[in-house]
Amino acid sequence: MTAVEALQAFLPDEQTAALITSDVNRRYLSGFASSAGAVLVTKARVRLLLDFRYYEAACNRVQPPVEVVRFTKLVDDLNNIFLSENIKSVYIEDETVTVAQLHQYLASLVPQVLTEDLSQKLSEIRMLKTSDEIEKIITAQRITERAYLETLNFLKPGVTERKIAVELEHLIKVYGGERVAFDLICITGENTSLPHGVPGERVVSDGDFFTFDIGAVYEGYHSDMTRTVAVGHASDEMRMIYDTVLTAHRKAAGAIKAGGTAAEVDLAARDHIESCGYGEYFGHSTGHGVGLEIHEAPIVFKTTHTVLRDGMVITDEPGIYLPGRFGVRIEDMYLVSGDKPRDLAAIDKELTII
Ligand code: ZN
Ligand code: ZN
Repeated sequence: MTAVEALQAFLPDEQTAALITSDVNRRYLSGFASSAGAVLVTKARVRLLLDFRYYEAACNRVQPPVEVVRFTKLVDDLNNIFLSENIKSVYIEDETVTVAQLHQYLASLVPQVLTEDLSQKLSEIRMLKTSDEIEKIITAQRITERAYLETLNFLKPGVTERKIAVELEHLIKVYGGERVAFDLICITGENTSLPHGVPGERVVSDGDFFTFDIGAVYEGYHSDMTRTVAVGHASDEMRMIYDTVLTAHRKAAGAIKAGGTAAEVDLAARDHIESCGYGEYFGHSTGHGVGLEIHEAPIVFKTTHTVLRDGMVITDEPGIYLPGRFGVRIEDMYLVSGDKPRDLAAIDKELTII
């Protein structure tokens, strides 16, 4: 079933439509990226409504069953469709429509406006990736890996975090990434205890851990990887913490099974870290879905009872962060595939000493 068909199956009858206005879901359903417009889905049809700036490009790119429609004033054109097709109710994206848009829809759309369920439904549909989406995620990952391996050549005592981050971002673009998937995290020494530290003027020193949490975007799809490497040498304590995180990572990966739950994956990592005495230093969820957005459903956390299914892509990213000292995180994306997930990374997870 395609995403459009899944959404059509969600609509209760021929008199109900779904109006999709967020950039990411418009792109998801139509395959066309634009900064404005709407997708209108009914049981029978799916239309991409665009203004004149995008109309010609969309006509050349958009594939059936999506029909491209040029609008002049969106609300008026929508109402014309609603009246001619006897649409009585329309779902809107409850999680992304602004209060101002909602007021406008309530005041001007002819059908009853439904403000529940659509965002959740789209997020559920997006969890299951097609092979085409998976290939794009893998391409984004390969671009990141190539840039990462080359950037390691620059990692030495005296260089700043910022220099490493800039080099990596540059290489991601050189190797075909349309952009970085998020503000790259390239941090060293004590800063590695900050799970979302920002690269700054801190200089790499011998004996530091250096954490890269990095990703690229390829044709709209994101990748996400974290590696923690040691510069020069690693103390016994650093190695022990690294091994604890790596074992937690592997236990979580081992729990990624179709028919299992996201909670089981989180607990596999969390229980190991807690059993080693570091539970209080692992303060985030074990992972998240990845796709057109860097963070999407499902959240891989002990309270998430989402059942894993073939075609989902989730990260596995446990960490231990010792405040003021150092931190370790090891993250890769996994494709749910029967009893054994496919690791989408092609880079070693063992401790690397630069
Ligand atoms: Zn990450
Ligand atoms: Zn992540």
